[in-house]
Amino acid sequence: MKDIGEYDHRAIEAEYARRWIEKAIYSIKDAKREEKFSVVIPPPNVTGSLHMGHALNATLQDVVCRWQRMLGRSVVWVPGFDHAGIATQYVVDKKLQQEGKNRLELGREEFLKEVWQWVPISRNSIREQLEKIGVSVDWRRERFTLDEGFSRAVRYAFRKLYEDGLIYRGEYIINWCPQDLTALSDLEVEHQEEEGKLYYIRYPLEDGQGYITVATTRPETMLGDTAIAVHPQDERYKHLIGKRVKLPLVSWKRESMSGEEVSEYIPIIADESVRMDFGTGAVKITPAHDQNDFEVGKRHKLPFVKVMDERGRMNQNAGEFALLDRYKAREEIVKKLEELGLLEKIESHTHAVGKCYRCKTTLEPMVSVQWFVKVSDKRIKDTAIKVVEEGKIKFIPEGWRKIYLQWMENLKDWCISRQIWWGHRIPVWYCKSCGKENVFTDDDFDRVYDKIIFNLIADGKIGYEFTPEEIERVLHSPSFVHPEMTVLDFYKSFAFHKYHSTEMDANSLRLFFSQDLNPMALLTEKRSRYRYDPKSKNYRFVLRCKHCGSEELEQERDVLDTWFSSALWPFGVFGWPEKTKDLENLYPTNLLITGFDIIFFWVARMIMMGTYLAGGIPFEDVYIHALVRDEKGQKMSKTKGNVIDPLDMVEKYGADALRFTLAILTQQGKDIKLSEKRFEGYKHFANKLWNAGRFILMNLEHDLLQNLPYAAPPKSEDLWIFTRLNRTIQKVNKALSEYEFSEASQALYEFIWSEFCDWYLEMSKLRLYAKPDENLPQEERQKEELRIKAERISAQATLLSVFDRILKLLHPFMPYITEKLYSYLPTAYQDSISLASYPQENPQEIFPEVEQKVEKLKALISSIRALRSDLKLEPSRRIKLYCKGEGWKELLQEFEKHILSLAKIEELIYVKERPSNTIAGFYKDLEFFVSVEEGIKVEELLSSYQKRYQEVLKSLDSLEKKLNNQEFLKKAPQEEVQKAQNIKQELLSEKTKLEELIKSLQEVKVVS
Ligand SMILES: [Zn+2]
Ligand SMILES: [Zn+2]
Repeated sequence: MKDIGEYDHRAIEAEYARRWIEKAIYSIKDAKREEKFSVVIPPPNVTGSLHMGHALNATLQDVVCRWQRMLGRSVVWVPGFDHAGIATQYVVDKKLQQEGKNRLELGREEFLKEVWQWVPISRNSIREQLEKIGVSVDWRRERFTLDEGFSRAVRYAFRKLYEDGLIYRGEYIINWCPQDLTALSDLEVEHQEEEGKLYYIRYPLEDGQGYITVATTRPETMLGDTAIAVHPQDERYKHLIGKRVKLPLVSWKRESMSGEEVSEYIPIIADESVRMDFGTGAVKITPAHDQNDFEVGKRHKLPFVKVMDERGRMNQNAGEFALLDRYKAREEIVKKLEELGLLEKIESHTHAVGKCYRCKTTLEPMVSVQWFVKVSDKRIKDTAIKVVEEGKIKFIPEGWRKIYLQWMENLKDWCISRQIWWGHRIPVWYCKSCGKENVFTDDDFDRVYDKIIFNLIADGKIGYEFTPEEIERVLHSPSFVHPEMTVLDFYKSFAFHKYHSTEMDANSLRLFFSQDLNPMALLTEKRSRYRYDPKSKNYRFVLRCKHCGSEELEQERDVLDTWFSSALWPFGVFGWPEKTKDLENLYPTNLLITGFDIIFFWVARMIMMGTYLAGGIPFEDVYIHALVRDEKGQKMSKTKGNVIDPLDMVEKYGADALRFTLAILTQQGKDIKLSEKRFEGYKHFANKLWNAGRFILMNLEHDLLQNLPYAAPPKSEDLWIFTRLNRTIQKVNKALSEYEFSEASQALYEFIWSEFCDWYLEMSKLRLYAKPDENLPQEERQKEELRIKAERISAQATLLSVFDRILKLLHPFMPYITEKLYSYLPTAYQDSISLASYPQENPQEIFPEVEQKVEKLKALISSIRALRSDLKLEPSRRIKLYCKGEGWKELLQEFEKHILSLAKIEELIYVKERPSNTIAGFYKDLEFFVSVEEGIKVEELLSSYQKRYQEVLKSLDSLEKKLNNQEFLKKAPQEEVQKAQNIKQELLSEKTKLEELIKSLQEVKVVS
């Protein structure tokens, strides 16, 4: 009836990516709690572009979300982006350097302006990439971890934890990156085995009675030594405990972190942590520059002497080595020690070195003042363990549960301060007068406009000094919380909606924001919160110390670890800390899908913060997906050049092929091995589907639906395909409910390709193309025409009914092509297939007996086809087929037309005995025969099969030798052994078949 032309993935995907957004198909305003299915996307970093891992992550979430939506749930899938502290600062810094600008020269405020200009550009580009993949997120809910709402949530979270005694500031040994100039959490350290050296250095005893030798890998830190430690049970050194040594090289004054002078004569102390078997058994203690020494220093109350600055250069405490880079200093120090005869020896030594996960610089352990969350406190930790132990949060695959619990048991406090500019500035103000700390949130201010101005300042949108025009401008600029909101809208309708209820605040709000009234009027009120400077015409927002009332406050310069805000993601996106309807209806979320590499960075912290701050688990199921590797199983990396860019694949093969490939390769607990060929393969699948649709649509009566009452009763093949369809429906729903993505897509692939396209479509042609006999008399011919039409309608109805469900079943995996094909179907009632119902199993459409019968028919036709191919018969040649087998007559008669058409048979002839000069094939106890007169070249076939037979024997022989070789079995990888065994099986069955063929051909030869 109508021809939809060739499959053009580019046109289809471009059309619907746009239309889905324009029509806001995936937006739901008020989802009821009972029927909601909420998911938050793991926010991609606002830097760079999406890689295959992102594509996999997005695909799996989308499959589940589309499926749930079609099951009738109100799906709310929230998209968003992460401000990615260090990473973003790094990228923008690099960009500025290329423009000849310098971050440090620009200063904090100007630099942040540059970042804010860059963020929307980068964000939009990532958003476009996600759109291309076809994610059914609600873009109207898009969030950013540094938007107005999130920044406010972060201050609330910080304050709550701080007031509960769960955030503290302390001196601590941290991992310092001298390149990025920031502390890193333990998780951000990459440990790498490195070939280094072990230096043996002599420390002369104070009393002149010889020396004690210590071994170290970092001699430059010796300038910060404040003790030598030995094991209390070490017989070699017992008598020296309590004595002092002279720290070599040092002849200058050193100052501890608490400002006291530290002597170059340092004590020999005893500590259980010293390993007697390492080096000499005596170790130098540098409490300010080593993790272990830090602990020893605390235990023994040793002074802490820092000898390096933040860039890894030696400082004043290093005396003559000051200002040298740490490695240069190492060289110089070693040289000097050698000259003084204090270097006993140098050994080569392999040890683990901590590297920055971002810039790969060797980290320097350093003592500094940092902020910490006391996650080890049982108020946080115990609940986060309990919810997983009790199964309220389920890990899939289950193995991750144990890993999570183990990690939680050994939890260390979480260092949350970072010495960078891009991020949430820690909401702590130090009082210069009384020295105390103040944590402010907008709760500290009574009036709504004070709250707003405080937030603008705390977010860095305006300074403490500002003009009303500046405020006006910021308030009317686009908000990051919602694409269609201004900053002002956000505060009015979202953050402070609760204040609308009280008259006074409603009034002041109205006044403050009314277009006719200049905010200056309010600012000039005699409220002490603002100071006006007539000279500069600036207003100043006044903060006062909560402890002493002083106005001399200074905000902490550090920002929070990026993961601090992403830990709030699952409730922050719904408006927390406000008690919003969304939070009430959509939290906890139903599902989180993420990669295993961020279980500790992110998943665990969401569980801790969710249970502590939002008062409930953040999600019910956590599906952890595998890593995407190349076809050889290697990690994809730019340096290896084995990266497959998802967007290239979308361009070449389509988002549908990309998604289907990723889904079908996703087996729980197994990494994904990818090659471009895979995408190409599933592009063929998309093509196959398209062509099936094209065929069906071309053969549909234009008034099919009106004609349905006149349809003939269904045939066996109709009942069979309905049965197979329902079995597939059952499999797919089950697999999806267990997050078995591969199983679900495999079932669909097999049904659509091998059953529907390969068999049912072919069989349907018998009825679609049927014509009445030309020679029939007029009257009978008319009758016959009616009968044929009734049968044709019946076939069309089945095709339509099955294909309609195929498209729905496949939609979560291949949204674009199914959407397009569905739009052509006369059964398409919805705006979008994604709003249709997902097919459910219908027991009334399952006919096991007919199913068996048609399966038998298929097997029989396959056997005939196999024999034809063995005999090298021309594919188009119609042959006569002799059949022998009493029990088969009924089946053969019912399906005679099918066999004639699908196996290219001219005539079926029933025989009691094998006719002479024929070659036999069989299926079960049905024998069938083909006459040699059908153009079978007996001699030629015989010699070629005999030749092949010899080859098979030879291969089998050498394979058997290999498999009997104990060396091979021991040394070869399991996979290779398995492969050899599989080949052997294949060869064995080929051998049997060849034997039969040869025998059969020889018999014919003898007879003829
Ligand atoms: Zn670094
Ligand atoms: Zn104070």
